[in-house]
Amino acid sequence: MRQSQLFPKTKKEAPKDAESINHKLLVRAGFIDQLMSGSWTLLPLGLRVVAKINQIIREEINAIGGQEMLMPLLHPKEIWSETGRWDKADEIMYKLSDVRKKEYVLSFTHEEIVMDLLRKNIRSYQDLPAIVYQFSTKFRNEPRARSGILRGREFMMKDLYSAHATESDLMEYYEKVKKAYIKIFKRLGFDFKVVEASGGVFTDKHTHEFQVIDANGEDTIFACNKCDYAVNKEIFEGSGGEKCPKCKEGKTEKLEGTVEVGNIFPLGTWYAERMHVYYTNEKGLKKPVWFGSYGIGPTRVMGTLVEVSHDEHGIIWNKVVAPFEVHLVELPGGKGEEIYNELTASGIDVLWDDRSVSAGEKFSDCDLIGIPVRLVTSAKTGEKIEWKDRGAEKSEQMDLEDVINKLKK
Ligand SMILES: [Zn+2]
Repeated sequence: MRQSQLFPKTKKEAPKDAESINHKLLVRAGFIDQLMSGSWTLLPLGLRVVAKINQIIREEINAIGGQEMLMPLLHPKEIWSETGRWDKADEIMYKLSDVRKKEYVLSFTHEEIVMDLLRKNIRSYQDLPAIVYQFSTKFRNEPRARSGILRGREFMMKDLYSAHATESDLMEYYEKVKKAYIKIFKRLGFDFKVVEASGGVFTDKHTHEFQVIDANGEDTIFACNKCDYAVNKEIFEGSGGEKCPKCKEGKTEKLEGTVEVGNIFPLGTWYAERMHVYYTNEKGLKKPVWFGSYGIGPTRVMGTLVEVSHDEHGIIWNKVVAPFEVHLVELPGGKGEEIYNELTASGIDVLWDDRSVSAGEKFSDCDLIGIPVRLVTSAKTGEKIEWKDRGAEKSEQMDLEDVINKLKK
């Protein structure tokens, strides 16, 4: 893509109300735009990053049997009254009514909708398990809509739902999802902990959160310094420094500054009992369906990646989520078009700075946008190309063929 055509251009200054790093850098670099507090447009660069995050999630969820679909965002009051959550989750819901005074809610989650699908379609144990997911928008009435794209009133979510015949089937699948999430967050390059938590308005059972270590994060967890024991502050009893209840060797440490990027809930039969979702087992008996739900926030993941990987000049994307693979900078006397065509023909995704602006402006845009590899062509580089990794001090001169081979590795 030619940078002269990229919408929008980068900004020299961060918005005045921006407090967090992800807000400042993602807006300046042209990845997102704020319509109002907690409400964001994913601009072309931002959508590229989120699409790559989603593809990683999609691959791992498909690998554990998830089937992708898409559910509506506008829900009738009646379906939420069946579980009592129309009143119970009142504080976080956006409710509205139409001209005929019929009441609705903008979706903040989809358990009730999946339950409705299950009761229409599940008859016997042979119809289970049923495992479905979507990438969709969620609405949450968020009084503290700040922290940039980390906390929105409207945001993207991957939500997975699984229905099973027995509790042991559910818990077996729950462990599978936990492992898939660990793979996803490793592929995204995060330093994170799997944290035991309470279920909030979702369930009375203990659940798990995936918390990324980030000094600016709003959450606090307690983790063992020897084993993988970690719990959030809502359920931890103590103040840190105690002997680890799991391995009995390490000590618990208070970790202030984490960001929750995913969560998983074993919901049991609570929903099935309230919404009458029953199946017939091998003995012909009617039994309630065992249910779980599992979320990851891709837009929050993007914001968190910026929080944990940046410097004073801008964002530092890793290879797997970067909006482009290389940022090609053409300076006077360079062979921009020739190199761009060769790279593109080799299947490499290039942002080519073909603009008539100063070298300084081009280099600072490279640092701000944060594509992992910067290539420079100029009268000085001649037949060679200058390769520099984002965040590295040194650069090297290479032939085009070597550049392509290195990028293909
Ligand atoms: Zn331990």
